[in-house]
Amino acid sequence: MYPPVPPVGLEYIAGSLISAGHKTEIVDLCFTENIFKEIDDAVISFKPDIAGITVRNIDSALFLNNEFFLDEIKIIIDYLKHAYGLKIIVGGAGIIADPEGILEYLKADFIVSGPAEKDLPYILSNLNNELNTRIFYSACSGMVILDRLISAIDYKKYIEKGGVAGFETHKGCSSSCCYCIEANTKVFFKNPNDVISEIKALVDIGCNHFHLCDSEFNENLEYCIDFCNALKKESLDIKWAVYMKPDNFNKKLFQLMKETGVYLITLTVDTYKKCDMYWSDIERFIFSAKSAGIKVVVDLLTGFPYEKESEIKQHLDNLKRPLPDSININTYIRLYKNTCISKMILSDKTLVKYLINYPGNGRLIKPVFYNQINMEQIRQIIDYDSIFRVDGAEKGVNYSRI
Ligand code: SF4
Repeated sequence: MYPPVPPVGLEYIAGSLISAGHKTEIVDLCFTENIFKEIDDAVISFKPDIAGITVRNIDSALFLNNEFFLDEIKIIIDYLKHAYGLKIIVGGAGIIADPEGILEYLKADFIVSGPAEKDLPYILSNLNNELNTRIFYSACSGMVILDRLISAIDYKKYIEKGGVAGFETHKGCSSSCCYCIEANTKVFFKNPNDVISEIKALVDIGCNHFHLCDSEFNENLEYCIDFCNALKKESLDIKWAVYMKPDNFNKKLFQLMKETGVYLITLTVDTYKKCDMYWSDIERFIFSAKSAGIKVVVDLLTGFPYEKESEIKQHLDNLKRPLPDSININTYIRLYKNTCISKMILSDKTLVKYLINYPGNGRLIKPVFYNQINMEQIRQIIDYDSIFRVDGAEKGVNYSRI
């Protein structure tokens, strides 16, 4: 994929396993031309008892140029099982979309849903005992110290190919966006000094461009300010980009973010049942961030059930007023099994006609989209205004476009 994304989740998992006394090796297949040869070499030399596979996303979640990842992952799982008789445990950020469904689809032996850093060492230690489940629901609590195995990844290659390094300050999200698999997931923060140690270790191996891996940076304003203050003290020569939500912000935060090297914010916005306060917060957010010298790109999801075209036009006018650098508009809503919007749409017969690729029976592993405003209508609504981009129409990500 372009740009390639280093497997930060695997680095955290490997670090926590090694700290717990498990012998662990990462095989990163991102740049491999012959994945089976690379797998053969790794399995023959390392002789693992079990293989873990990460599922960062089920698919690219965009309707245009959608990429579905599970079939390729399944080929690797089948190979490891049949060629080497290995047991397979699957985890990763994408699993919470539907742990049972993904386990069944991939025909893996075990699956971990949720952040596995704390629980995976225990699960592995007990796999030889009689386990009465194949699905583990994992959660962390409190402020957690996590180790990270950076040395296993060829960062130079990622940077050469346009990738950037990542780090995370917390896991989970307390917001309730009706379409998002991370809505209302348990939040826990990392110690800012531990995060900064990770960044410094990455700087030491030549990384100076980062993207935050948190679902949204600003889960807690006080934490964000503490983190930025601690980072500022280090005077590192870095630049970084973040995802944020229109909540928990003030001018001081944006000023500090700018001083620590933040150059781009992708702001998550949707139009589902929003009050006037939401739109005025967004306006304030964009004005404040831009006044601090940070670029803002809006990722907008719209075209929800019962929304009228005139309402969408009004929202777009609201969004344009504070002059963000770009607005990525998406009217194709990817449905996942456990989200509120999926339950609402699938239980209303008048809405089912707007589904694309729905096989029935509540199955949503392969991409199913709700769409009531099609591509031509979007183009008319945005009236070819250059501030808008139709999400998925071109490849790439915000930090590579800006
Ligand atoms: S704020 Fe972002 S991560 Fe949180 S629920 Fe909404 S879309 Fe998901």
